[in-house]
Amino acid sequence: MSEELEHVQCLIIGSGPAGYTAAIYAARADLKPVMYTGMEPGGQLTQTTEVDNFPGYPTGITGPEMMEDFRKQAERFGTDIRFGYASSVDFSSLPHKVVIDDIKTITADTVIISTGATAKWLGLPSEGKYNGFGVSACAVCDGFFFKGQDVAIVGAGDTAAEEATYLAKLCKKVYMLVRRDEFRASKAMVHRVLNTPNIEVIYNTETKEILGNGKNVTGVRVVNNQTGAESDLDVEGFFVAIGHKPNTDIFKGQLDMDDTGYLKTVPGSTLTNVEGVFASGDVQDSYYRQAVTAAGSGCMAALDAERYLAAKEHDVKVVS
Ligand code: NDP
Repeated sequence: MSEELEHVQCLIIGSGPAGYTAAIYAARADLKPVMYTGMEPGGQLTQTTEVDNFPGYPTGITGPEMMEDFRKQAERFGTDIRFGYASSVDFSSLPHKVVIDDIKTITADTVIISTGATAKWLGLPSEGKYNGFGVSACAVCDGFFFKGQDVAIVGAGDTAAEEATYLAKLCKKVYMLVRRDEFRASKAMVHRVLNTPNIEVIYNTETKEILGNGKNVTGVRVVNNQTGAESDLDVEGFFVAIGHKPNTDIFKGQLDMDDTGYLKTVPGSTLTNVEGVFASGDVQDSYYRQAVTAAGSGCMAALDAERYLAAKEHDVKVVS
């Protein structure tokens, strides 16, 4: 039940690279942004260890440290950063309404959605135990740390196929664990996988346990779901590529989404189908999903919001 009311010019939901970059730009444009961080301040990057591919950090940085830098930069320009999550929204009329923590209603002239996506995991306790210590859900982010080593990847969609071929360029051997007797990935991607000599596809196979020495991954126990036979593979890295879920449940029925729940934006912009509501980062991008692309689209969202407000002030009709 919502009780308090507050009005803001620019409300940012989510605190990953997209949200913080939107905040930096919106604050510098004097939109006095208010950000709600969500339940995981800093977003997906707080789950990773080293980040080596974000420009500007020549010697690398840990994910949590990088997000701390983003936060400080957003705060430096006056972003009002608050811990809390958006529990429901009403975009049916202006100003937009966003309920925070089921308690407080914020009305906003513009809303920037940067709620991100969540990697799907197998749900094994050992997967959580070694997350960041050999277990990863992002080959592009973490593959480099397994240069010359043996790794396994689970999944059979386009992401898994793409990540397996990416890993094959870096690693000695890549075991690809496919739970059925066929791929879900497109024919072209499957062709690439099957023609990469150091990828070994193991069909009808599920992961039973990730094995480790208490510090790092040392192997994976797999089971053939046809015969029940178990075997161990010696690997230093274990990649999970079984899909992502965009964090868009609260926007259902309010904003246009694709079949898998990613928010739709007007190509080349961050405009959603509702005026004054903008989407940036992984919540609207199932394809690139990189910190730097998310940050770029956060910048775009703030510029789109600023231009929308300026056009409204001068009574120019904005079509989204
Ligand atoms: P998908 O949902 O397409 O595939 C997920 C894969 O993971 C499936 O093969 C599924 O198996 C497997 N899986 C799910 N749960 C488990 C589990 N518990 N154990 C083992 N395997 C499991 O996700 P993607 O991330 O691959 O792709 C998402 C979308 O993005 C797709 O539309 C894809 O085409 C697109 N994409 C396109 C790319 C490109 O064009 N270059 C690159 C990357 C993604 P099963 O098949 O048995 O269900």
